[in-house]
Amino acid sequence: MSRWSKVPLGPEDAILGVTVAYNHDPNPKKINLGVGAYRDDEGKPFVLESVRMAERILLEAENAMEYLPVAGDKTFVKNALKLAFGSECSAAPGFENFAGMQTLSGTGACRMGGELLARFYDAPDVYLPTPSWANHTPIFKDAGCTVKGYTYYDASTCGLDFKGMVADIEKMPPSSVVLLHACAHNPTGVDPSKAQWDQLSALMREKHLVPFFDMAYQGFTSGDADVDAYAPRKFLKDGHHMILAQSFSKNFGLYGHRVGCLSFACDSVAEAQAVESQLKILARPMYSNPPIHGVRVVNEILQEKTLESKWRLEMQGMAERITGMRMKLRSGLEARGSAKIWDHITSQNGMFCYSGLTPEQVGRLSTEWSVYLTKNGRISMAGVTSRSVEYLADAIHAVTK
Ligand code: PMP
Repeated sequence: MSRWSKVPLGPEDAILGVTVAYNHDPNPKKINLGVGAYRDDEGKPFVLESVRMAERILLEAENAMEYLPVAGDKTFVKNALKLAFGSECSAAPGFENFAGMQTLSGTGACRMGGELLARFYDAPDVYLPTPSWANHTPIFKDAGCTVKGYTYYDASTCGLDFKGMVADIEKMPPSSVVLLHACAHNPTGVDPSKAQWDQLSALMREKHLVPFFDMAYQGFTSGDADVDAYAPRKFLKDGHHMILAQSFSKNFGLYGHRVGCLSFACDSVAEAQAVESQLKILARPMYSNPPIHGVRVVNEILQEKTLESKWRLEMQGMAERITGMRMKLRSGLEARGSAKIWDHITSQNGMFCYSGLTPEQVGRLSTEWSVYLTKNGRISMAGVTSRSVEYLADAIHAVTK
């Protein structure tokens, strides 16, 4: 008998399973709306020109490829904090009171945040919105935190259940950690308004709760990275001891390079140093140090005005293409005489549309139309193109009649 025979076969990841089914389908009209990655209007993976330009500069520079320190590139961490909180951040000039580390993208940032909470924080109960990114639960559980949920989405309006959210937050024990999607909530595309963020910040201060922002789509809601950072900036100004996980996968298109940042707003330089020292102790036996190429690309872009402006324009272009597809899909369904209300396609934000399609309708989309999405009805709008949007409207209309 093999030594590994007791290892049971694990289930396939639900999102990756959608791509497997798509790949097996011979229909030339097939559409993959499962993946959370931006595609251009030809449906192809997109590398930003600003990234290519930065790479050419790096190639010429012939940099060494030595290890980074355990907490990663310090300059990158500063650049990431400036991008999140604004380069002239009055609430944290110089970011001296921040503990920060470069992480293995947004996933790694969430995980390291969870690891630190589980090891050093007295109340490592992490509350997730219902629903949340499917990976949040195993990330925080595997880190050793207890995962709980709070009301977020209202299926009857395909919008935010703000009342329910506030009621649940009011009931949380003091010191609990509340995970908040900073913008472009995954999977629902539903975000609080500015006034609602203001209210949440005040409530969480009053209840002594700790905000843990996951910002994986900065720029994807409005097309402007500064506008999308409203919530973390407001919470910082209001004096929260907040945690922030940043991903550079989507807004810089650096998916496979694993570029991310984790930061803690502390009360003093000494406290920040202590937190950072423990983050390094956690990271060292896990992966020793993070990868070097992606952060160099981000540094080149964010430290050079022309490149930064180009990146901002490209970011805006990605967001606008998605918004355009939202409008075309909605009007396409309305033009086909759909009796259903599709306002949420355009009122939701970011990469995803939480369509309200039932698992049965999602099943029919794949078997009858070769349109693939996750069972929860989440459509990756980034996978819709000018060429496929009419076919998609036909398909959705047919299965929702
Ligand atoms: N948080 C959320 C909400 C996400 O949707 C994602 C990507 N799907 C991530 C974090 C992490 O992505 P990555 O590890 O590629 O940065």
